[in-house]
Amino acid sequence: MSYDYDQVEVPAEGEKITLEEGSDTALEVPDNPIIPIIYGDGVGSDVGPAAQKVLDAAAEATGRGISWMRVYAGESARERYDENLPDDTVEAIKEHRVAIKGPLTTPVGSGFRSLNVGLRKLLDLYANVRPTYHLEGVPSPVSEPEQMDMVTFRENTEDVYAGIEWEQGTDEVEQVKEFVEGEMGFDDVIHDGPVGIGVKPITEFGTKRLVREAIDYALEHDRDSVTLVHKGNIMKFTEGQFRDWGYEVAEEEYGDEVITEDTLWEERDGEAPEDAVVVNDRIADNMLQQLLTRTDQYDVIATMNLNGDYMSDAAGAQIGGLGIAPGGNFGEGRMLAEPVHGSAPKYEGQDKVNPTAMILSGRMMLEYMGWTDAADLVRDAVEETISSGKVTYDLERQLEDAEKLATSEYADEVVSNIEKLS
Ligand code: NAP
Repeated sequence: MSYDYDQVEVPAEGEKITLEEGSDTALEVPDNPIIPIIYGDGVGSDVGPAAQKVLDAAAEATGRGISWMRVYAGESARERYDENLPDDTVEAIKEHRVAIKGPLTTPVGSGFRSLNVGLRKLLDLYANVRPTYHLEGVPSPVSEPEQMDMVTFRENTEDVYAGIEWEQGTDEVEQVKEFVEGEMGFDDVIHDGPVGIGVKPITEFGTKRLVREAIDYALEHDRDSVTLVHKGNIMKFTEGQFRDWGYEVAEEEYGDEVITEDTLWEERDGEAPEDAVVVNDRIADNMLQQLLTRTDQYDVIATMNLNGDYMSDAAGAQIGGLGIAPGGNFGEGRMLAEPVHGSAPKYEGQDKVNPTAMILSGRMMLEYMGWTDAADLVRDAVEETISSGKVTYDLERQLEDAEKLATSEYADEVVSNIEKLS
C-alpha cells in the first residue's frame, strides 16, 4: 500500500524500487525508478541540480531514466511547511528505498538537533560509508595521493552523536551530575560550576552490524584488510569494547575467510592465506598520522561515529578536499547518498562550488542500484573532465593552467564527457 503524501509531489512517471521477493536487502530496480532528492541547504541548491544532470545523462546513456521526486528538509522545508524535517520526506525515502541528499545546516550550541543525524536515525541508516580514492588530475597536499584507496565504515546511530546530552543550567543536568557523583561514585571528576553532560552509548548490536558490513564489503571487493579504529586505551568500556566486539565478529562469523592480525603473526609468521581479509586495530590518534605516513597499508576502516567523521574528512583532504569526497548511508535494503561536505553557506547560490562530491555520491547510489555501467561512466567522465584541466575554483587554485568553471558549467562538461565515452 502506498503512503498518502501531502508535502511531496509524486512524479507522474516512474516506478518504485522494491525488495526482491523473500529478501530483506536485495533490491528490485526498474529501468525508470522514482528517486527522492533533497537539495539541502546552502550550496545544496547548486550541487543538487548539477548532480541530477550528470546522473540523468549516465542513466540515459545506459538505456534507463530516473524520475526525480523533490523532497524537502532544512531551510526549504521551513519555508514551505514550517517544519525542519516533514514526515513525508522521511516516508518518501523509506518507501522508495534509494535517495540522495545535499548538505543540511546544523546550528552550533543551540537550536534544533542535526537533521542529518535525525534522518540517519529515523531511517536506521546505520553505516555511513565514505570511499576515499584519488582521481587522476586532482591536486593534493600530499606527494603520492594515489596511494590512498580506502573505504571508511562509520557507525551512524550511536556514540556521542546519539543526542543524549543535557544543557548546562537545567534541572536535568543537575540530576545527572548528582547521579554520577552520588550513586556512581565519580565524586571528584566533574569541576564545580556550570556543566554540560553527554552520554556515549556503544552497543554490541550497533558495533557488530557495522563491523559485519565492513568485512562483507572487504570480502566482496577483494580488499586485504579491515582496520578497527578506536580510542580504547582511554575509553575502555565504549571504544575498547567496540574493538573487542569487532574482533568477536571477525573470529566467530567468517571461518577461514577472515583472520586477525594477532593470529596471523602467532600462527602464520605474518603470511596471510590467499583471499583472506586480515582484521587489525589501530588507536585513533595513531591512525590519523598513519593515514599520512603509511597510506597504502589501509583498505577498509570500521569505526564509531565521531572518529569516522574526523577521519574521513582528513582522508578526503589527501585526495583533493571536501569538494571531491562522496558518501552514502546504508541500512537494511535502503540507502541515502550524501556528500561528506557541509552546506558551505558563504558560497550559497553562487554557482561556484565543486559538485563532484555530490556527483560521486550519486555514483555510489547507482552502484547500490546495480547500475554499475552507469556508475563507471560517471566516474570516468568526472576523471576525464578534471584531467583535461576543467575544474571548479577549489581545484583551480591549486593547479597551473587550469580553466575555472562554475558549478553548472562543470556539470555540463561531465555530461558531455558521458556522451563522448558512452
Ligand atoms: P563545509 O560546509 O563542509 O565547508 C567547509 C569548507 O570546505 C568550505 O568553506 C570550503 O572550503 C570547503 N568545501 C565544502 N564543500 C565544498 C564544495 N562542494 N566544493 C568546494 N569546496 C567545498 O563545513 P562547515 O563550514 O563546517 O559547515 C557548514 C554547515 O554544514 C554546518 O551547519 C554543518 O553542521 C553542516 N554540515 C552538514 C553536513 C551534512 O549535511 N552531511 C556535513 C558537514 C557539515 P574553502 O572555503 O577553503 O574553499
